[in-house]
Amino acid sequence: MAIQNTQASLLADASKRLAKALKHVNISEDAIALLQHPKTSLSVSIPVRMDDGSLKVFSGYRVRYDDTRGAGKGGVRYHPGVSLDEVQSLAFWMTFKCALLDLPFGGAKGGITVNPKELSKAELERLSRGYIDAIADAIGIDVDILAPDVYTNAVIMGWMMDRYSTIQRKLCRGVVTGKPLALGGSKGRDTATAMGAFTVIKAMLSKFELVPPETTVAVQGFGNAGSTLAGFLADAGYKIVAVSDSKGGIYAPGGLDIASVTEHKNQSREMKAVYCQDTVCSIVEHETITNEELLALDVDVLIPAALENQVTQANAKDVKAKYIFEVANGPISSDADEILAERGAYVFPDILVNAGGVTVSYFEWVQNRSGWYWTLDEVNQRLKEKMKSEAERVWQIGKDLSIDLRTAAYVQALKRLGTALDAKGNRDYFKG
Ligand code: NAD
Repeated sequence: MAIQNTQASLLADASKRLAKALKHVNISEDAIALLQHPKTSLSVSIPVRMDDGSLKVFSGYRVRYDDTRGAGKGGVRYHPGVSLDEVQSLAFWMTFKCALLDLPFGGAKGGITVNPKELSKAELERLSRGYIDAIADAIGIDVDILAPDVYTNAVIMGWMMDRYSTIQRKLCRGVVTGKPLALGGSKGRDTATAMGAFTVIKAMLSKFELVPPETTVAVQGFGNAGSTLAGFLADAGYKIVAVSDSKGGIYAPGGLDIASVTEHKNQSREMKAVYCQDTVCSIVEHETITNEELLALDVDVLIPAALENQVTQANAKDVKAKYIFEVANGPISSDADEILAERGAYVFPDILVNAGGVTVSYFEWVQNRSGWYWTLDEVNQRLKEKMKSEAERVWQIGKDLSIDLRTAAYVQALKRLGTALDAKGNRDYFKG
């Protein structure tokens, strides 16, 4: 039975992947029925007093897609494009990601429709605290746990935890992960998504005997995940030839000096401005390119690390990279998957590649609950072990069933989800 979803939406597109995986896994009809619907979808209005005295009302969302395997878990996104449909899709992916990594969590996600760059810091704080006021009844340490996502960060997570604790009249550190270290954050959380992706990339590229420094890499998105990953890859000797942010990209066939690019980006806040400012320009011959051009570069490895739907039916045929690692959530649409597969490209899926973030969020939650904090080495070692073993499992399923790696990842996640959903009894059990 295939998942039915009549909405022409991101969630409908996400469901197509599930339908494909369902052909390769034996899971009860009841479990499939349950996975068709988000458990809770909350839409809220958040009034915020602006610095000039005016009042603005923002739309916010929190979706708990499924919590059979544990409390909901997922980030909060601040972006002008945030909608209920997007948040539902992201919560759906989180459900599969947590199951794939065998974390004791279900899937959730939240967001506010806002351009945070247009707000002052004080307005951003009022908005973040207002969001918690609005969703407080739907979250909790054993209910639904928040984390950072696009355009949210550790400081915002600290405000959210603080506000929730104020409402509860007790310290509730475990309700939010990705917090500042001083407020109960975990060592290694800031680099976790990139470290997890780096572990998967290294392990998988070695199967194709692609080693640094011959392997060329392009990274789209130079935020928390993309810039840190570019740094890890560059340090390991891979040749990063292109990077980009929302305003455009830079390309140097001989390889970019990522440490300098990062330093300049941090100063200028704009990737294009990095170029033609002192040292980076003089160190490396380069061109400026658009995001579309970056996606079509003739490189070995392409890493979309920005937003969803970057590679679609419209531009998939232009993508030349043979190895694509999805660090962003949903950067490739399901029809683009087919085109890339015809071209013989290997797509390593988001729910595996970017799962390092939620894995260390889990470690943070465990540390908050136990009050016993780990060293950076302990965090990274546990993270690498988990990422490597689940990546190898996905690879093996792909080989055994002769299916693409995205479908293999969904098959593995579905097995775990199906087992948990059926443990409450399914129609076969009740029929006797
Ligand atoms: P971020 O806000 O730190 O960075 C986003 C980056 O993407 C910025 O450099 C921004 O300029 C760039 N960008 C925005 N729109 C773009 C466009 N149209 N073209 C090219 N670049 C564009 O966000 P992040 O935390 O690095 O997240 C990036 C992606 O990784 C998202 O899809 C997020 O869901 C996913 N992800 C992040 C984490 C994490 O722990 N940070 C974990 C799992 C998944």
